Amino acid sequence: MEFLVLLGPPGSGKGTLSRRLQEENRFIPVSTGEEIRKQMADPQSEVGRASAPYMDRGDYIPDDLALSLFYTILEPMDTESRVVLDGFPRTVPQAIALAPWLEAKGHRLIGCVFLNLPVEVAVKRMEARLVCPDCRRTYPTVAGHPVGSECDACGGILIQREDDDPVRMKQRLRRHEEMTNPLREWFEDRKQLLEVDASAGTEDLRKGIVKHFNL
Ligand SMILES: [Zn+2]
Repeated sequence: MEFLVLLGPPGSGKGTLSRRLQEENRFIPVSTGEEIRKQMADPQSEVGRASAPYMDRGDYIPDDLALSLFYTILEPMDTESRVVLDGFPRTVPQAIALAPWLEAKGHRLIGCVFLNLPVEVAVKRMEARLVCPDCRRTYPTVAGHPVGSECDACGGILIQREDDDPVRMKQRLRRHEEMTNPLREWFEDRKQLLEVDASAGTEDLRKGIVKHFNL
């Protein structure tokens, strides 16, 4: 398998970019947030049960749990797959733990794309987002999904995000930045980082990524 990692704050468009990479470049998108919710909906899933307390209080799951989740999702996949990862690895310890697994399995890390977005722009984008209350997938309001339209993934009725006041959003963005910076530097030190301006159009971003990593 080949893995492309997307890093970037909420609102930087990782979901939209993942779906474009799926449509045009046959990447399989794996979003840690969505996968955790799937596991939590499955009463048989140990990973889901263990994740619930963290998710319920709005925390990220700890490293060992993130790794279990990752292996649970990836092990059954076709070894020829290309996967675009949103939300994993999320910390340097996760990235370090991933390396020997990749090597043992003969997989390859293509690299990491960091979607850079100023806090003010990120806040504006988050305010303009709709969410599916059933599967939690988010939609930019500019992309042709008005309030009350159906979720592409599950048919849920889209609503305005309820939990986003600007102060809390800024706090979330800062927390995200503090957590992500060491990981971004880790990839940079290994010459595996491509930093892009997330305010560019999705199609331009996709083309730039394809060209840079020779996909
Ligand atoms: Zn949905």
